[in-house]
Amino acid sequence: MSKRIIHWFKQDLRLSDNPSFYQATKEGEVLPVYILDDVNPKKYTIGAASKWWLYHSLLSLNKSLQENLYVARGNPKKFLQKLIQDYKINAVYWNRCYEPWQIERDTKIEKYLKDLGIEVKSFNGSLLWEPTEILKKDNTPYLVFTAFYHRGCLGKNMRPRDILLKPEKIQYVKARVENTHVSKLNLIPQNEWYKKLSKYWKIGEEHAHKNLEKFIENGLSDYKEGRNYPAKNSVSRLSPHIHYGEISVNQIWFKIAREGDNVNTDCFLSELGWREFSYYLLYYFPKLPEDNLQKKFDKFPWNNNQEYLQKWRKGMTGYPLVDAGMRQLWQTGYIHNRVRMVVASFLVKNLLIHWRKGEEWFRDCLVDADLASNSASWQWVAGCGADAAPYFRIFNPILQGQKFDPEGEYTKCYIPELKDLDKKYLFNPWEAPEPVLRKANIILGEHYPLPIVSLKESRERALLAYQHIKSQAS
Ligand SMILES: Cc1cc2nc3c(=O)[nH]c(=O)nc-3n(C[C@H](O)[C@H](O)[C@H](O)COP(=O)(O)OP(=O)(O)OC[C@H]3O[C@@H](n4cnc5c(N)ncnc54)[C@H](O)[C@@H]3O)c2cc1C
Repeated sequence: MSKRIIHWFKQDLRLSDNPSFYQATKEGEVLPVYILDDVNPKKYTIGAASKWWLYHSLLSLNKSLQENLYVARGNPKKFLQKLIQDYKINAVYWNRCYEPWQIERDTKIEKYLKDLGIEVKSFNGSLLWEPTEILKKDNTPYLVFTAFYHRGCLGKNMRPRDILLKPEKIQYVKARVENTHVSKLNLIPQNEWYKKLSKYWKIGEEHAHKNLEKFIENGLSDYKEGRNYPAKNSVSRLSPHIHYGEISVNQIWFKIAREGDNVNTDCFLSELGWREFSYYLLYYFPKLPEDNLQKKFDKFPWNNNQEYLQKWRKGMTGYPLVDAGMRQLWQTGYIHNRVRMVVASFLVKNLLIHWRKGEEWFRDCLVDADLASNSASWQWVAGCGADAAPYFRIFNPILQGQKFDPEGEYTKCYIPELKDLDKKYLFNPWEAPEPVLRKANIILGEHYPLPIVSLKESRERALLAYQHIKSQAS
């Protein structure tokens, strides 16, 4: 009898360039399995927007697997044990995941299965470089991105793994039909909020590749400069596809590298490098989502103002670029990177609200929510992370808007109540003379809020708070 292998899908929802799935199909009959783990992640359970994405991604994967995907919700250990018995399984393969709770769970499951006499193999399916491969000469982890990427990743000539094709022939272990219904995972929320997300995204492996093609055609040649402008089509919007592994970073890396060596391709590849760095930090600092990497920030005098937090979440701060970003998030499940930096800086510096509150909201609302990139980026903006932006770098949402959304297309798209406002005042409407506001049909405080804090005063407050922890640390 041929070997019967479970390929346990996790964040690798694709058939091509999937090292574990590829190996399983080569060695025997495969039972493809997805288990929605609602036991081990605890507070890191996936957010509402991610669940919506996952649902559609699993439907698409199941279709590619000719409806052979076994799905379950609960503790993976329990299901794997049952499947091994029910389907006479000899081996379990998977691609590795890197969130601390996943590492802990999978280490235990590996030992448990091996003790049962089941063969276990794990593969690298989601990173260009394994964190354990990249260390400084003294065997400690890099803390600075440039050194990590240029010296650690590129310097040693460690070429990322070559890509694998989709398996030509797949022999399935047939699961019972009632176990292949993705809807039984209850991923779609009760409220109607998710419905609007469908307007903005096409989900699944095929669409991930189409999006990459589109980006290469339309965005790549201007990426380095254009990526700063939220109204332009210069970014790839591949992040949710990457998060769920509908496309591998290796596939993206080699496809972009084939476009030639120039400032735009280099810049794009280095952004994939930032993703690697986030995973690297999470691997070596598993408390990254909780604790400040720089300990001096433990004494930072955060402000727990719920009203400010609520206004930030709803896009009602009175600062149009900040509000446009937060409304883009609510409407589409995504925010352009430059605007992510602006809204994050506003929360942690102008409102002095803890970065963890922002991280949590993003985790619930982003379709690309990713524990590594999200927590590393929040710490970066807050100034307490590895290689973080200097604390005094406080984004000014007026200047950022004037510079990177000069015609106001992005801002007006998400704040239609300001659509007739003269662009001279679009990012600072409270400074507009009365006739200008009247002409644009705006009564501030009624149609659009007045600023909840003064930029100048809040900036000074933030710098003072920073001076305070700095002097305590020295
Ligand atoms: C406060 C904050 C929170 C963030 N939270 C997340 C998150 O939860 N998930 C997430 O994927 N990204 C996060 N980012 C990083 C970045 O904003 C997004 O990856 C990017 O905007 C996704 O859009 P894109 O695919 O069009 O990016 P592109 O510009 O097309 O970049 C291509 C890919 O490179 C990677 N990448 C780009 N920039 C970064 C970065 N700064 N850090 C890590 N990876 C990067 C992503 O995988 C992205 O898909 C966050 C950034 C900030 C400032």
